[in-house]
Amino acid sequence: MSAAALPSGPRILLRRLREVMAGGGAAQDRMDQLVTTIAANMVAEVCSIYLLRDGVLELFATEGLNRSAVHQTTLRIGEGLVGQIAQLARPMALSEARSHPNFAARPETGEEDYHSLMGVPVLRGGRVVGVLVLQNRSNRDYSNDEVEAMQTIAMVLAEMVGGALQEEAPGVGTFGTDGLPRRLAGLSLNEGLARGTAVLHEPRIVVERHVADDIELESERLTKALDELRVQVDGMLQAAIAEPGGESRDILETYRMFAHDKGWMARLQDAVQGGFTAEAAVERVQVENRARMSEISDAYLRERLHDLEDLSNRLMRHLTHGGQMPDPDLPEHAVVVAWNMGPAELLDYDVDRIAALVLEEGSPTSHVAIVARALQIPVVGRLDQLLESVESGDDLVVDGDNGQLFVRPAADALKAFVANLEMRQAKAAQYAALRDQPSISKDGTRIQLNLNAGLLADLPHLAGTGADGIGLYRTELHFMVRATLPTVSMQTEFYSRILDQAGERPVVFRTLDVGGDKILPYLARHDDEKNPAMGWRAIRLSLDRPVLLRMQIRALLKAAVGRPLAVMFPMIAEVAEFKAARALLDREVDRQNRMGEQAPSSLSVGTMLEVPSLAWQLPALLPLVDFVSIGSNDLMQFLFASDRGNPRLANRYDELSPSALSLMRDIVRRCDEANVPVSLCGEAAGRPVDAMAMIGLGLRSISMGAASIGAVKMMVRSLDLPLLQTFMEGFYDSPEHSLRKALMKFAEDHNVAI
Ligand code: PEP
Ligand code: MG
Repeated sequence: MSAAALPSGPRILLRRLREVMAGGGAAQDRMDQLVTTIAANMVAEVCSIYLLRDGVLELFATEGLNRSAVHQTTLRIGEGLVGQIAQLARPMALSEARSHPNFAARPETGEEDYHSLMGVPVLRGGRVVGVLVLQNRSNRDYSNDEVEAMQTIAMVLAEMVGGALQEEAPGVGTFGTDGLPRRLAGLSLNEGLARGTAVLHEPRIVVERHVADDIELESERLTKALDELRVQVDGMLQAAIAEPGGESRDILETYRMFAHDKGWMARLQDAVQGGFTAEAAVERVQVENRARMSEISDAYLRERLHDLEDLSNRLMRHLTHGGQMPDPDLPEHAVVVAWNMGPAELLDYDVDRIAALVLEEGSPTSHVAIVARALQIPVVGRLDQLLESVESGDDLVVDGDNGQLFVRPAADALKAFVANLEMRQAKAAQYAALRDQPSISKDGTRIQLNLNAGLLADLPHLAGTGADGIGLYRTELHFMVRATLPTVSMQTEFYSRILDQAGERPVVFRTLDVGGDKILPYLARHDDEKNPAMGWRAIRLSLDRPVLLRMQIRALLKAAVGRPLAVMFPMIAEVAEFKAARALLDREVDRQNRMGEQAPSSLSVGTMLEVPSLAWQLPALLPLVDFVSIGSNDLMQFLFASDRGNPRLANRYDELSPSALSLMRDIVRRCDEANVPVSLCGEAAGRPVDAMAMIGLGLRSISMGAASIGAVKMMVRSLDLPLLQTFMEGFYDSPEHSLRKALMKFAEDHNVAI
């Protein structure tokens, strides 16, 4: 435990630091004493404090470096090792600092003689306000315990920055927010455009007192707050159970598990026993948690640690505000600004008032992004320095299409925003007007437009968009937001709810496509996979763990009693795999019959075609399947040997290339000849030009995200299909890299709305 790592005994050093800080006299004198005390305790030749002043790191005190450099030496955020620690808000420990590429010696400090360096950020209310540094002449290997001890000292130092020092040294601890317009570039996690008022998700609770006066009292306060937190989470869970809404319930179950986690509680109590106040203990464990998070590359585990972060924030609110959310009254058009957020936290808000969400962290596969997508809330993530740049109440323009954020937008950014928004609104109105119009091309060809879905929150889009049905229901999302494997009865309830909500519209359930980047915590993991997209995933995993697939099929059969059921298998690479999966399904059908249970009114079983090898086995496959759905996302990544998640390869290969178009045309032709319905459910179906090409090569049914239906229907209704087919005739043998430009030209020449 961190506090226990302090060399001279945690309580004693904490108390000593506190005494120095609380002592009278000028703050500068006290800081000078602090560095001396810390250097002695940490057995270091140098201890220095750099503090942020009007956006620049300034050397405020040092033991060991030239004192004449104090208040003279400054570093920008990101400059040198100290600047890098501030920028990343992360500790750094180097036994040979001078060989680090970011090392920048300041001659006036006399630091050339020192080889090893350890620095930790000084954080106040989650913001970096300075850096605390140790240096040694020898090549010292600082231990993790020593790094943690320094983080603890930095927390106590942060107290001082907020207090006496600010009066003595104006501008300390501030970024010098200039109120000027700023543009931050990030990553689009969900499309859309919005303007609104910044609401800081984190209340930025600043811990004012770190060292406990009475350990017993602090321990009691912590226990009480933990009890209240558990009651709150249990209450939220009860409410979620009472009110149907599958996802939030699953998510909250994960929270409950964390709230009762003994390891977490023990770490908090240890920190209190080490001499911290209850608030400081929560902050301390949170800092450790974040440090662990930064070392974890596994997306799923990182998300789980974010859930724990969310819970820590709640606990802090119980200690400081009696558990109240910081801002229960969201303004109309709120843009929620957060470092990161768990999905339950988003659902805590009155989501109707949220115009957009912006995150300093976040990834496209994070659960909060998945939930926001279902709620159609634009999200931009990975916005560097977001929290430093935005103040509560700021005017924000969120451009989810291009992954950028305008803070206090200038007149030109606002003008562009208004123009874009008007264009979008006009388009949305056009699409809405088309909702009940048939999806028929100018020459009278009917094109089925289906929806891709994966959450209950997607279901209302069926009626909202006028889609024909659900062409792809990704069942794995339901499994991913849970901490434990859902039982057959839980799955049954969930699938029946989907069928209830879909009503007359057909739904194609795809069986679990987990593995790769879609990790289930309760499933044995294979961390050593070098190439997870081509690894142990989807049907491969299901066939090796047949109980999982059989449970799912059992639940689907039960849920669909008396109504049609369509099931498809993902990642089938050869006929033998389809047959094996089908055999498992048949066993469940037999079981249902034997038990005398009622059955679905009809059952159709199909396959995704997303592994190229299957395309060469169609004569053997087609007599066995009721339908085929081309998964262009995976099909393209395997066809071109090009990782679909690698941004560097994003534009290298095109599904509108002759090879891809020929392959897909061939598949469609063979399916047509065998009278097997064929559809396409990858991202290609959702982009009007691409969808036009898919229809041109022969598809009559495509499935896409809800946001695309309107635009694609508009394209279909303006298309003269025979003309397009003739135009595309020469495409398949073309030597071109891509036929995208030619297709766009065709659309332009023939007034096809793309
Ligand atoms: C696909 O691969 O095209 C597909 C629809 O499946 P997913 O995107 O879920 O892998
Ligand atoms: Mg796929």
